[in-house]
Amino acid sequence: MNRNVKIKLIDKVYINGEFVKPDGTERMDIINPSTEEVIGHVVLGNESDARKAIGAAKEAFKSFSKTSIAERGQMLERIHDAILSRAADLNQACMEEYGATAKAGDFRTRISADSFLLAKEAMEAYEFTKCIGKAKVVLEPVGVIAALTPWNANNSQIAIKVATAISAGCTIVVKASEFSSIQTQILAECFHDAGLPAGVVNIVYGLGTTVGAELSRNPDIAMISFTGSVNTAKAIHHSAVDTMKRVVLELGGKSANIILDDADFTKAIPRAVTSCFGNHGQMCIAGSRLLVPEHRLDEVKELIKQAVANTKVGYPWEEDTFIGPMMNENQYKRVQRYIKIGMEEGADLVIGGEGHPKGLEKGYFVKPTVFANVTRDMTIAKDEIFGPVLSILTYRTEEEAVEIANDTEYGLGAYISSSNLEKASIIASQLIAGTVYINDVILEMRAPYGGFKQSGIGRECGIYGLEEYLEPKTILISD
Ligand code: NAD
Repeated sequence: MNRNVKIKLIDKVYINGEFVKPDGTERMDIINPSTEEVIGHVVLGNESDARKAIGAAKEAFKSFSKTSIAERGQMLERIHDAILSRAADLNQACMEEYGATAKAGDFRTRISADSFLLAKEAMEAYEFTKCIGKAKVVLEPVGVIAALTPWNANNSQIAIKVATAISAGCTIVVKASEFSSIQTQILAECFHDAGLPAGVVNIVYGLGTTVGAELSRNPDIAMISFTGSVNTAKAIHHSAVDTMKRVVLELGGKSANIILDDADFTKAIPRAVTSCFGNHGQMCIAGSRLLVPEHRLDEVKELIKQAVANTKVGYPWEEDTFIGPMMNENQYKRVQRYIKIGMEEGADLVIGGEGHPKGLEKGYFVKPTVFANVTRDMTIAKDEIFGPVLSILTYRTEEEAVEIANDTEYGLGAYISSSNLEKASIIASQLIAGTVYINDVILEMRAPYGGFKQSGIGRECGIYGLEEYLEPKTILISD
């Protein structure tokens, strides 16, 4: 288990094209969630660092907003290449800092790199000047962006926001999660190595309540692109109102996974486990409510037990691990609390339960847990748990399945399994969700990503994502 970790020290923020000592002095330990060992320290920036970064981005915006598509395209390509050249470091950091398996780390790194090529593609296809009736409409970059990102998909969240900002001609200040500083530092080095003009991308480590709060209220920030939890989003949205900032909010979910009676259950149930337990369940789009026909419940429970038994919980560096540790102690306690609540509220424990899995007493490992006989009013059916905990609910008719699926304050994702694609498509049209997966989960990063209801405001990725960073200007000319 001793992997001879070299203690890392992240003691510089990236402002105006330089790595500089922050004004903030608070030091936070970086802990490996698989071993609970301290693997590094980050010196957190403060409000003053945030203001310096905003100042640099504001100055850089003057010329960067005028750069050509060709110039920005070259920058996006260079960042893509820089990220790929650091793939091994990023994957290692994901494993040590987050507990990601090599496969998951590699997947994230590829998504991060690809984001830059996809942003280039969207930018090149986009009509930045349009004629509408007598008007010429020019889509201009909105200004300086503040990117606030969570720990659970750190690299790709930062990448999508930075790539879109550059493609739109905006400059950006990134405050990543304080729990993802090593990965963020590597990305900062990639941006630097790609030779961007100074001040286009700035990165400040720090807490939400200091650096994050300054970015949310500072009048020089034109737009906030936030990914994280609903409660934080509400605080940010409130402070953004005073200066009428645009907000794009990508938040949590409690996505339903409807298995129709005609589905192949031997495929659909293992898929349901993967779609809930992927990324150790720490996934905004986790299919955490499994909706099955009432008369098939016993069969479902058996298939679930088999699928969970085939899903290895373990150290992320072991080849066949699928579920690694929770990302930190708080997250571990949060998941334990929800498992306890599930038991107390009378749900039927199918597999898993409280405590550590056998042999994994050290590290923030939890048992992948499935509850059946969950009713809609139970806490575990309503709250986003953000861990490997799956709730099975039953339905009698397809209408009831849709009603249960939509009975949530969230609206991020939904999953349907059926052998009848026409019927599944009709059901998809009835679901209140930003993304609906029918049968296998596939990735299309050109398509918009985001949520209905309290899962967010606005969209990321592709042309819809680009438009969020643009402000239309109407020009009417007369003689
Ligand atoms: P979080 O809301 O705690 O933190 C997100 C970011 O906001 C962090 O950088 C944090 O430091 C910062 N922050 C915290 N308080 C702040 C404040 N008062 N002002 C400004 N910034 C502040 O979220 P998390 O725990 O890091 O991530 C998990 C959450 O993210 C889950 O709810 C998950 O569903 C959501 N998420 C959503 C998506 C999506 O695309 N919809 C993707 C990934 C994660």
